[in-house]
Amino acid sequence: MEDRTYTIIFDLDDTLIKTNKIYNHARDKFYRVMTKHGFPGEESLDRLDQIDIEHINRQGFAKERYPLSLVKTYHYFCQKNNKKIDRQAEQEISDIGWNVFEQTPELVEGVNLVLNTLQERYTLLLATLGDPEIQHEKIRHSGLKGYFLDIHVLSHKTPEEYRQILNKHNLKKEKTWLIGNSVRSDLNPGLRLGLNCILIPAVTWKFEEEKPISDQYLQLNSLIEVLHYL
Ligand SMILES: [Mg+2]
Repeated sequence: MEDRTYTIIFDLDDTLIKTNKIYNHARDKFYRVMTKHGFPGEESLDRLDQIDIEHINRQGFAKERYPLSLVKTYHYFCQKNNKKIDRQAEQEISDIGWNVFEQTPELVEGVNLVLNTLQERYTLLLATLGDPEIQHEKIRHSGLKGYFLDIHVLSHKTPEEYRQILNKHNLKKEKTWLIGNSVRSDLNPGLRLGLNCILIPAVTWKFEEEKPISDQYLQLNSLIEVLHYL
């Protein structure tokens, strides 16, 4: 009889699909617009992160957050430099933000092979962070939905939110793996709950930066390497 007592909880963004690449492209465009209007590019990106993280902490992952953060950053520099807001630049910047949601992230190399192989022996769950509408849309476009028994869109990725997933599916922590790219959102909550954790670091952004709370986890260079261990 097959043994499906083990479960893997996967992260989505920058673990299975390359979301950050799209945001980096938007950042490049924003950088160019800002420098074109005489503002410092690097400083604009730093301020954008700061404003965006403040928005997340205050209101969570609403869809309009990112375009708004970009526009607010532009306003900040206009005010700081005593420049009038240029409505065309403002529109261009807002469009950069909205355009992010119109793009389909590429799949991480080997994702279908990995999920297809693992689904033979494990129950697969998805736990993703963000705005439910955006996340469900990304999952649909990725074509990966069918691999997962259940999909959870979390609003913070706190240990408590992961605990609710364990409860819902009756999972034992020692028989559950958590695989993700983020120390803040995947690894640390997983370690706090005593799950088996695999970190596959991917370049993301300031919001996800944190130090691991322990070294009791496996770190891999790529998703495909998971097949050597599970
Ligand atoms: Mg991620």
